[in-house]
Amino acid sequence: MFSPPIRISQGHLNLLETCFRKYQHIYLDRLASPIEPNQQESLAWGSQFHLLMQQRELGLPVQILLQGNAELDRSVSSLVQAAPDVVNLEGSDEREAEHPRTLTWGRYLLVAIYDLLIIRGDRAQIFDWKTHRQPPKRGLAGNWQTRLYPFILAETSDFTPEQISLTYWFVGSSPQSLKFGYNTIQHEQTRNDLTHLLTQLQEASDRYQTDHIPFPQVPRAKNICSLCEFAARCQRIPENKEKIKTFNFPVSLDSIEEVPL
Ligand code: SF4
Repeated sequence: MFSPPIRISQGHLNLLETCFRKYQHIYLDRLASPIEPNQQESLAWGSQFHLLMQQRELGLPVQILLQGNAELDRSVSSLVQAAPDVVNLEGSDEREAEHPRTLTWGRYLLVAIYDLLIIRGDRAQIFDWKTHRQPPKRGLAGNWQTRLYPFILAETSDFTPEQISLTYWFVGSSPQSLKFGYNTIQHEQTRNDLTHLLTQLQEASDRYQTDHIPFPQVPRAKNICSLCEFAARCQRIPENKEKIKTFNFPVSLDSIEEVPL
């Protein structure tokens, strides 16, 4: 029977690297907890910003999206001022907003969507708008987005890794950027790491589907379970919390007489 390929994004890869069991809970058991209102608000703001930048790239009017949203207006104006060579629509660059790319990898389909792709001469520049209030200070170099986005482009185009770059723009009232170059050594390292991670995923998925063996849990020593929403389900509640729970029962439950109904 034909099974469609399983889509794997940078988000899936980051999650797998954090904890395979968490991937199982969210994507196979569909147990993700609902998004909190403040996260929802931030996601909605991010979507509006991305939509607006896409409309702008297509030369469509954006005023309607800006009406009544002074913060969005300010953020776009600040970005235009801070990155004129990126947002300038005139010139001979080839450019496309929300550019999708896919790469087949065995039973998986690696997917990326570039917020903006600019081809300038013999260079391919990927841009990503980050709409978090606080730009992450560390860890972006090892993040799967930074690794997967250039990897897919190098595998699906004539550009060599050295001709590709990825720049994050952290938007807001004072936009900041962080640019990552790319090279053949990083490309081959990413290929090896993808092979390793997706082989592990394939084996864990087969065990889960045929023998109902759960995905492996992250080692306790990594100390990340106490912050995870699945800690109770995984029986990884920190010991001091267990003690508090137990302490709430001053008498043995066995000693309480059953009340007839
Ligand atoms: S509680 Fe720990 S083992 Fe369970 S899903 Fe979360 S991180 Fe993974």
